[in-house]
Amino acid sequence: MSDQCLFCSIVAGNVPSVKVAEDDTTYAFMDINPGSDGHMLVIPKRHSKDLFEIPADDLTAVTLAAQRIAKAAVAEFDADGVNLLNCCGADAWQTVFHFHLHVIPRYVDKTRDRLVLPWQPGTPGDIEAIVTLGSRLSATLDGRLSATLD
Ligand code: AMP
Ligand code: ZN
Repeated sequence: MSDQCLFCSIVAGNVPSVKVAEDDTTYAFMDINPGSDGHMLVIPKRHSKDLFEIPADDLTAVTLAAQRIAKAAVAEFDADGVNLLNCCGADAWQTVFHFHLHVIPRYVDKTRDRLVLPWQPGTPGDIEAIVTLGSRLSATLDGRLSATLD
């Protein structure tokens, strides 16, 4: 627990939140600036700053909780889909530095949904750059996904 952290204070009950569900390791609550109706956040109770810092067991628990909440939200709110979003780093839109997954129900009805895609789907990239970047990362990872990258 970090004294300075807003989401740690929410978990501790020192800052109010609209709780949706919790278990031993995770806590889900409503986002106060919702991008769509029913926008929620799922966090680990244990403090981790971001995606790079969160231990595997907390990441697994938060991801599974987000999946469960997403299914429930789509059914309960009659949503047409759902986005999971994580922002890692200030330049990637992270504003609260306690790991969280956004669970954002999506609606065809735009009176319930204010999200827009921040890039243009279907715009082709430079194939040489795509291949170069893919190859570099593949070499860095040694082509494997099971080992951790330090
Ligand atoms: P991010 O920008 O990915 O770090 O997301 C942080 C999210 O936390 C934003 O969507 C905020 O609206 C939300 N937020 C900030 N303060 C609170 C709060 N006290 N209760 C609920 N959500 C909050
Ligand atoms: Zn925290």
